Amino acid sequence: MLRVTLRLVCPACLQGSLFRKGYELHESCLECGQNLIGTDGAQYGGPMVLGYTLGGAAGIVTALPLFLFLGPTEWAVWAGLAVTIATVFLTFRQCKAAWTWLLYHTGQLPGSKVRDAS
Ligand SMILES: [Zn+2]
Repeated sequence: MLRVTLRLVCPACLQGSLFRKGYELHESCLECGQNLIGTDGAQYGGPMVLGYTLGGAAGIVTALPLFLFLGPTEWAVWAGLAVTIATVFLTFRQCKAAWTWLLYHTGQLPGSKVRDAS
C-alpha cells in the first residue's frame, strides 16, 4: 500500500502511473490494463473521507498545541484550518492512490486478481 500511495502507481503491476493529470485517474493502467476506477462511483466517497480525516487530524495537531501553550487565540483556529485545507489538497492524490489500492485488494475493481481468484 505504501508503495502505491507514495509512488502513485497501479496496485496490480506497480508500474503504470495512476493519474492522467491533476487529480484525474486513468480509467485503466497504461502498463497492464487493470481497471483503476471501478464501477458505480467506487472512487468518489472514499478518497474524500480519507483526505478529510487526514486533514482534520493535521489541523488538530497544529491548533491544539497552540491553544495549550499560548492560550485561546483566534489565529490558532485559523492556523489549524489552513493546515487542514492545505493537507486535504496536498494529500488528495495519495488518498486516491490508497483508496485504489484498497479497492484492488478487496476485489472491488473489475479484473482485480483478488476477485478473479474467488
Ligand atoms: Zn498496472
